[in-house]
Amino acid sequence: MTYVIGPPCIDIKDAACVAECPVDCIYTGGRMLYIQPDECIDCGACEPVCPVEAIYPESFLPSDFKAFTKVNADFFQIAGLGAPGGAAHVKAVDADHPLVGGWPQPPPPEAPAPIARQRS
Ligand code: SF4
Ligand code: SF4
Repeated sequence: MTYVIGPPCIDIKDAACVAECPVDCIYTGGRMLYIQPDECIDCGACEPVCPVEAIYPESFLPSDFKAFTKVNADFFQIAGLGAPGGAAHVKAVDADHPLVGGWPQPPPPEAPAPIARQRS
């Protein structure tokens, strides 16, 4: 089994999980982070620190996140990383799995409403 990062991480990337991982198997892509499934030791240390509940054990992924088991695994082939044995030795990759790359961008923040001037 492995832990898996799901779509709530997209465009968040605060890396809170990275500091918790004892084997340094969480790698940075363009729009999200990815767990290397062959390096993950299933310790669960990353899961509770994620502020957006993006991390799940593979077997407990919500049904609409299921595709992300393969997304995490495939990223390492797409990025040409394989299983490098630790993110500290690897530069952040400015690429993503296609499903993540095409994920809808969040809407821009709404501009504040203009303040109405009072006539004196
Ligand atoms: S479950 Fe443990 S080993 Fe796997 S990514 Fe999370 S912190 Fe790292
Ligand atoms: S803690 Fe959650 S949101 Fe932050 S980088 Fe890790 S998976 Fe992404």
